[in-house]
Amino acid sequence: MRLFDTLTRTERELRPCDGTTFRFYCCGPTVYGPAHIGNFRTFVLQDVFRRTLETGGLRTLHVRNITDVDDKTIRDSQQAGQSLTDFTAGWSAKFHADCERLCCLPPHLEPAAVAHIPQQIAMVETLVAKGHAYAAGDGSVYFKIASFPGYGRLSRLDERELDLGKTQNARANSDEYEKDSVSDFVLWKARRPEDGANFWPSPWGDGRPGWHLECSAMIREYLGASFDLHSGGVDLVFPHHENEIAQSQCAGGGHFAAHWFHITHLLVDGGKMSKSLGNLHTLDDLTARGFSPMEVRYVLIGAHYRKPLNFTLDSLTGAREALSKLAKSARQLAARIDGEPRFDAVDFGPFQAAWNSLQHDLNTPGALGGIFTGLREAATLTGEAAAKALAALNRLLRALGLTLPEEIPTAELAVPVDIQALADERWQFRLAKNWAKSDELRAALAARGWLVKDGKEDYTLTPAEA
Ligand code: AMP
Ligand code: ZN
Repeated sequence: MRLFDTLTRTERELRPCDGTTFRFYCCGPTVYGPAHIGNFRTFVLQDVFRRTLETGGLRTLHVRNITDVDDKTIRDSQQAGQSLTDFTAGWSAKFHADCERLCCLPPHLEPAAVAHIPQQIAMVETLVAKGHAYAAGDGSVYFKIASFPGYGRLSRLDERELDLGKTQNARANSDEYEKDSVSDFVLWKARRPEDGANFWPSPWGDGRPGWHLECSAMIREYLGASFDLHSGGVDLVFPHHENEIAQSQCAGGGHFAAHWFHITHLLVDGGKMSKSLGNLHTLDDLTARGFSPMEVRYVLIGAHYRKPLNFTLDSLTGAREALSKLAKSARQLAARIDGEPRFDAVDFGPFQAAWNSLQHDLNTPGALGGIFTGLREAATLTGEAAAKALAALNRLLRALGLTLPEEIPTAELAVPVDIQALADERWQFRLAKNWAKSDELRAALAARGWLVKDGKEDYTLTPAEA
């Protein structure tokens, strides 16, 4: 499989560095409320990524953390009158339930920050001992970015600094640039009164880890100094991932992540999602409107991960139609095989282009388009060829994590099995341009009270009296 790498700005072939298992890390959720569909764009695409590797025959080790201590979790647990542990346990459980509804595979390991305080302290100690970090007067410890010449490579800081200079001259609003400011960042935060009971002892006094540190410490624990791929939403490139690289490489050598996979943000109605704009959607909001989690998943994989995805409610209606069309064609294909689907290890038959799309920079919209084209091609297949095509289709659907709706619209449900079979048979004659046979079966269907209306890619059946 080939994938674009944020660090080198090139598409590269993915290979496990240990020769057997592809080991990768995804920055996980901050558990202080329900995850929104923007978060789920990232998590679902990471899931398709893993499923594609596995469908291609690779073993994977998927590690994703839970951020259960930071400013937001501490603030909101106090507002809720709960301990940090109880508060974050509740939101972690909610996250897992949403992931399951969206058919995301659980990661193989899911370490949480609070359970890894000793590993984080040990990493800070190493950084201080090696001269990459220093304690400030208040008991906080900072990473000295001047001590790491590689700082800024991932996010192309040198280029951005030039840009920043230009813009700053043109505009006076310095607030805009605060998040981009390049400065020493905190590894260990000294205890403050507003932290309440949430502090831990350390060689620098009571405090808690800075947010960037947890991923570096848990990666070291579970993946070592060198591993295959690191992933997150594009907002994490700077400063989070830049800081992770600095901490990890300075603390312990190794190449850290061999590949960087970043997912572009989801927008709602063309703009940013936010609580104050009232356009922040969660999975519960969307299911309360009558949409299924699978329809949400379909929308989330409907755009390429390197392009923004503009989410609208209309796109969910479109997903519903696409899924039921897919289900119908898959059932028609299944009806034409004798026995079980038969997997052909060599090729994906009519679905080869769809599979190639996934293999080439995880092109999910290309794969979905390829599935529809493949289904049209497969409409002429019968017997063994149809059995192989159905197996290939099933593998692709598994790679995308799609399950097809079992329910179909009532008008279709009312079609008796033998009528459906007759109509399918007629469609095959029509595709083969055997007009005489096709007309004969149309008449036979009419005689039994069913009208056929042919579309470009499909047909519909309606009761004659309707
Ligand atoms: P958080 O819970 O805020 O730490 O975010 C969890 C994941 O969601 C991270 O990988 C973020 O980069 C990602 N993320 C946050 N907002 C969006 C968005 N609007 N679209 C896509 N991914 C996002
Ligand atoms: Zn992280």
